Amino acid sequence: MMSDLFSLKGRKALVTGANTGIGQAIAVALAGQGAHVICAGRRTCDETVALIAATGGNGESLLLDFADPMAAKDVFTGAGIDILVNNAGIIRRADSVDYSEEDWDAVIDVNQKALFFTCQAFGRELIAQGKGGAVVNIASLLSFQGGIRVPAYTASKHAVAGITKILANEWAAKGITVNAIAPGYIATNNTEALRADEDRNSAILARIPAGRWGDPDDIGGTAAYLCSKAAKYVTGAVLNVDGGWLAR
Ligand code: NAP
Repeated sequence: MMSDLFSLKGRKALVTGANTGIGQAIAVALAGQGAHVICAGRRTCDETVALIAATGGNGESLLLDFADPMAAKDVFTGAGIDILVNNAGIIRRADSVDYSEEDWDAVIDVNQKALFFTCQAFGRELIAQGKGGAVVNIASLLSFQGGIRVPAYTASKHAVAGITKILANEWAAKGITVNAIAPGYIATNNTEALRADEDRNSAILARIPAGRWGDPDDIGGTAAYLCSKAAKYVTGAVLNVDGGWLAR
């Protein structure tokens, strides 16, 4: 019987976009289970590191800007990181008939291209070291649905689900699990405009069986589980954390 099924003691994680929102909650959750967490952001993650320290955990801040989608290519070399959470993401809204090439490229670069090549750099290092590990990619309900006015975001999040599945297939025998979490409607900067629009907000809440939006913490615990021994035979999954929205 394993008594430390959910412990991440002795593990080293890198979480992208860890300065705020879901990434911050995931960083705090992983540290809470004992992982040392490298909190990566295009801005400093000092606030997250302080939150981790306040609960007796270990974290550090790293500047990593996916304006260059290859930014993480050398980050894993010799660093002993065995958990990667690809959380950084952007959303740009416009009707599809008006959608600009600039918005398309910006969203695809961060949400899709950077995510794939960060996974590649992580997987290369672990495989070279002969070590196992865990990847958690942050997908979306829009990995399954079309949404409206977010064509690049929807395309990129469908891609995140696909990338998760192919890497799970390729790396399962190497002891590297690759899963995704598909959040529904979570209170972060990403959904600020929607939550401020009373009509859109109440229309969305009416479709969520749980009857509320999610908190970033709702995602943090799920990520910690997927990185733990408890999930060692879970790979290629895209887990909905959405208050039942997709099932409805
Ligand atoms: P958020 O508060 O906007 O967080 C997004 C994070 O990504 C921030 O840390 C942001 O940094 C970072 N980021 C953006 N561009 C970057 C770049 N070029 N390089 C490095 N980091 C970059 O929103 P969130 O909701 O927590 O989003 C986290 C993830 O959850 C995203 O992948 C999002 O698509 C996904 N998601 C969210 C929801 C939801 O309802 N909130 C639903 C489904 C999926 P800055 O703070 O500097 O912008």
